[in-house]
Amino acid sequence: MAATPYIDIHTHNLNFFQEIKAIVNISLFEDNTNINNNLNYSVGLHPWNIKEERLSIEQSLISETKKLKAIAIGEIGLDKAISTNLLVQENIFTSQIKIARQLRKPVIIHCVRAFSELLKIKKKHESHTAWIIHGYQKNIEIASNLLKADCYLSFGEAILRNKKLQQVFKQIPNDKFFLETDDSELSIMKIYDKAAEIKEIRLEDLKKQIQINYNTCFKSYE
Ligand SMILES: [Zn+2]
Repeated sequence: MAATPYIDIHTHNLNFFQEIKAIVNISLFEDNTNINNNLNYSVGLHPWNIKEERLSIEQSLISETKKLKAIAIGEIGLDKAISTNLLVQENIFTSQIKIARQLRKPVIIHCVRAFSELLKIKKKHESHTAWIIHGYQKNIEIASNLLKADCYLSFGEAILRNKKLQQVFKQIPNDKFFLETDDSELSIMKIYDKAAEIKEIRLEDLKKQIQINYNTCFKSYE
């Protein structure tokens, strides 16, 4: 039987390692001529990359998803720390959610200080595909609201040093989380080691659990 891989649910690193199954993020409208067909991709328009002249992005997103054989739409989301008007962000986010639903792909979400707006959109546009909140670093109250709305939370490098976040991570149900490297230089193995230590479970059991979570999110749409 093949060994259970390390799953990195969200990364910007294009290097390919054999023991790792990663979802590599590609930004819509970015030059992606160097893509390697052996990798798994997510594609979407990040709120940081919204430009007024590209307010209608549906056709581009559909064709890029097909071209890359992307398995998720992302990272997409809402960010109150940038100057782009929030309503514009919400419209672009919602149109990408609709595409995800149409193509039956899970969504990888970037959210900064806009969790209540995010949950309102989730309620209004019930998507039936998994929502994965990437780079989660907030408190347990926000985490509980996201879990109640059936979101998954993904944790990265911050669990190595942020003690409060370690306590939050410890309380997240085992069938509701992922791990990721995002733009960190750290290896996903280091993040798994720390996660196993915090959760007080064996590394092998952690790997199996995340594989199950992955199958629940992704396999039903393949
Ligand atoms: Zn990212």
